Amino acid sequence: MKKSYDILIIGAGLNGATMALGAAQFGLSVALFDAHKMSDQLETGFDGRSYALSLTSVRMMRSLGLWDALKDHAQPILDIKVCEGQLPDGPSPFFLHFDHNEIEEGPMGHMVQDRYLRPVLQAAVDENEQIDYFPKVKMQSHKCTAECASVTTDAGQDYTGKLLIAADGRQSATATRAGIRRKGWDYGQSALVCAIEHENPHNATAYQYFMPQGPLAILPLTNNRSSIVWSETHERANSIMRLDDAAYLSVLRPRFGDFLGDIKLAGKRYKYPLSLSIAEEFVKPRFALIGDAAHGIHPIAGQGLNAGLKDIAALCHVLQDTQKRGESIGAIDVLERYQEWRRFDVNLLALATDGFNKLFSNSNALLRAGRALGLGIVNQMPRMRRSFIREAAGLGAKDLPYLMR
Ligand SMILES: Cc1cc2nc3c(=O)[nH]c(=O)nc-3n(C[C@H](O)[C@H](O)[C@H](O)COP(=O)(O)OP(=O)(O)OC[C@H]3O[C@@H](n4cnc5c(N)ncnc54)[C@H](O)[C@@H]3O)c2cc1C
Repeated sequence: MKKSYDILIIGAGLNGATMALGAAQFGLSVALFDAHKMSDQLETGFDGRSYALSLTSVRMMRSLGLWDALKDHAQPILDIKVCEGQLPDGPSPFFLHFDHNEIEEGPMGHMVQDRYLRPVLQAAVDENEQIDYFPKVKMQSHKCTAECASVTTDAGQDYTGKLLIAADGRQSATATRAGIRRKGWDYGQSALVCAIEHENPHNATAYQYFMPQGPLAILPLTNNRSSIVWSETHERANSIMRLDDAAYLSVLRPRFGDFLGDIKLAGKRYKYPLSLSIAEEFVKPRFALIGDAAHGIHPIAGQGLNAGLKDIAALCHVLQDTQKRGESIGAIDVLERYQEWRRFDVNLLALATDGFNKLFSNSNALLRAGRALGLGIVNQMPRMRRSFIREAAGLGAKDLPYLMR
């Protein structure tokens, strides 16, 4: 293994591993470090999450040569239905309906389970000769100067590169060490996550119900199963998690009615505390943040990983152009192009998800009536509906990076 690389990446989660593959594709050498081993996280049931990959994220998986291995496990999302919900009435009749036929390119996204996505990334990283992967290596310190970046592991090994990328998640110690401050807050909510099997077909439809306790998403998976992401206050989430499976299902069932017929759990149940955490800067000389290390948002619109993939596509685009021009890939003016591309978009997404969560996690009767009516009105406006669909599919941006075209 070498000691000097074009790019050093701390964190081999979904974003760090994808970044390594993106950079390697245009010839950069990459060292990818993680405190854990990816294969330790591949055990079935390690992570109950499923991701709604937008159309542009799916294009990116294709560009990176990953889609062929993923597509048989991916469930297309053809329709999205949004509505108000209240116990014990279930969903209100004012549906906002997004239909994939209203955009030019078919499914607006695909659901992919974490347990399929990670092994595909792991295999691609292992096979790639441009990438040296260092599992079970915890990063102790780093230094970035105008000339180069360097890192030191907790075993005292040093590595140098032209650019250091932090992909070490929401609590990014690397960003803190670099003196980057964060803004954000705890939502006072946790997401309860599980997969269910159901009697009736989901017809490739994703449902988002806005319950006063917090949003509830029912997202279609393969083989007549759906992924549930259900937000509750921390206190209620903790007590629901203490219930046995049958009691858990009896709390879940009345929240979305009986349109899926009989339901049963298909795997373990999980709980994630929800918070907003945005880095005030995404770059410094020879240093860039991507993924949750740059921004952790509410999962209400299922956009967290999609936002990380957009960071990676934008950064790869900027670095590829820089390399073609023969400039230095870690120079601050180069990295500022990446920051300019992403920061506004990320702040807008954080504001939108935060605003939606606050507006809809509220049981005021007047607000409820207004919201339900609002959804019904938007549903009658085809141009507005179409622009929402394009946004969810990732097609809203004027300039799409190479990997997403
Ligand atoms: C309930 C829920 C549902 C979600 N649903 C969706 C969805 O439908 N669609 C979507 O797009 N997104 C979704 N998301 C968001 C998505 O899960 C995250 O955005 C994504 O997993 C973040 O990946 P990451 O690689 O940036 O960070 P992480 O997954 O946190 O990875 C960070 C990595 O860095 C490593 N690390 C940390 N510190 C060090 C160190 N000092 N040295 C070495 N390694 C280190 C860790 O071991 C880890 O492997 C959801 C999130 C939640 C909570």
